[in-house]
Amino acid sequence: MSEHDHQAEPDSLRTPIVAVLGHVDHGKTSLLDKIRGSAVHEGEAGAITQHIGSTAVPLEVISDIAGELVNPDDFDLPGLLFIDTPGHHSFSTLRSRGGALADIAILVVDVNDGFQPQTHEAMDILARTSTPFIVAANKIDTVPGWNPEQNRPSKVAIESQSERVQSDLNDSLYEIIGQLSSKDISADMYWRVQDFQKNVGVVPLSAETGEGVPDLLTVLMGLSQRYMKDEMEIDTAGPAAGTVLEVKDTQGFGTTIDTVIYDGTIREDDTIVVGSKPEPIVTDVRALLQPKPLAEIRADEEFEQVPEVVAAEGVKVAAPDLDDAMAGAPVRVVGDRELDDVLDIVRKELADIEVSTEEEGVTVKADTLGSLEALVSTLEEDEIPVMDAGVGDVAPRDVRMAETAETAHEQSILAFNVDVLDDARQLAEQEDVGLFEHDVIYRLIESYQEYVEEIQEAQQ
Ligand code: GDP
Repeated sequence: MSEHDHQAEPDSLRTPIVAVLGHVDHGKTSLLDKIRGSAVHEGEAGAITQHIGSTAVPLEVISDIAGELVNPDDFDLPGLLFIDTPGHHSFSTLRSRGGALADIAILVVDVNDGFQPQTHEAMDILARTSTPFIVAANKIDTVPGWNPEQNRPSKVAIESQSERVQSDLNDSLYEIIGQLSSKDISADMYWRVQDFQKNVGVVPLSAETGEGVPDLLTVLMGLSQRYMKDEMEIDTAGPAAGTVLEVKDTQGFGTTIDTVIYDGTIREDDTIVVGSKPEPIVTDVRALLQPKPLAEIRADEEFEQVPEVVAAEGVKVAAPDLDDAMAGAPVRVVGDRELDDVLDIVRKELADIEVSTEEEGVTVKADTLGSLEALVSTLEEDEIPVMDAGVGDVAPRDVRMAETAETAHEQSILAFNVDVLDDARQLAEQEDVGLFEHDVIYRLIESYQEYVEEIQEAQQ
């Protein structure tokens, strides 16, 4: 997946980037916290590094946590980089050529609750971006009859499928496996999978007690080493390539971008090209910011300025003119290349994101390019035409656009995970433009569909 847009030879392997997806309340945040927590607990002080927007867990720490399951000598990938924000947002920010930022995903499913709408939604995104994933069957501690001694997750995860779990967990797990097979994915409760788009590992675990977390890390590390090594080759001396995770104000620095750098090196004063519509932004890095070690943080000063950052790492980039940068868009250091060539690379990458619009339809806004793409394609499946689609908060301009739709119900704005500016809200009220807001795609679409039904019923 990793594409070098320059000619230099790879000289190093980077950490695979891992994102956590799943239905609300199934335990994504808890799992990320647990992974960070066990890493801090098990590792030597300072062994895990908190970046901006991501956390790196080095191989040695994974090996400490996983014990005999991970022998560092068998691996040459340096560890795993977890994106800190759980859910679609972090995941659907694109990386390269419309692909996903993440190299591998963890799909969290609550064993009591099974597959829910956002689980399906997540699986659709994973399929569309061809992202390998494993299923974390979470909350096993709540299953009656669960006996951590008898049913050690590592046994289930590592040994053969015939190793039966003697508890009610069986039923829950088999239900999950049934759901996967209804999507043409065969699930194995072990990690020697052949093709992990069609054949995924299911790891039972508890984000609360931590049981099974070592197994999860083992499986992630094992799969990455086995299937992704070639894609992890990077040229550390080359100009950086990365993705914008978030655009936000940082005190003293104005508008900054939180990024994940997945190839090369970015330095202070480098000229960068950042994805934006209609045209990419060209600017110079003023400062690179990373979190200070906890002990050194003072209230007004949580960042440390660093001279350079090497992939794969998360870093906050301060530079002039970043106001129109888009979450999910590419960032490239120009280096010794022609600016025009780099602009072309960034333009192409943006153009590859499929957000097709029609002459008539609703107006949609989303927080990142990736989530916009996910929203528009879900609307397409539901046969709801889209007239205008953009990234960012709902502004008066969007209301003006929505107003031009022909039918009353299409004079609507569907806003996914973004704010509605006050003057836009006022204008929408004034002009009778429907405003639908949610941070869950299916709920957003549902509420719009209900509204359409109401209008149609009223017309009959
Ligand atoms: P998210 O919305 O997917 O990020 O879910 P959270 O991580 O916020 O978890 C939702 C709720 O489930 C919280 O109250 C957690 O404490 C709880 N929870 C998460 N994982 C587990 C688990 O493994 N066992 C138990 N008993 N509770 C859990």
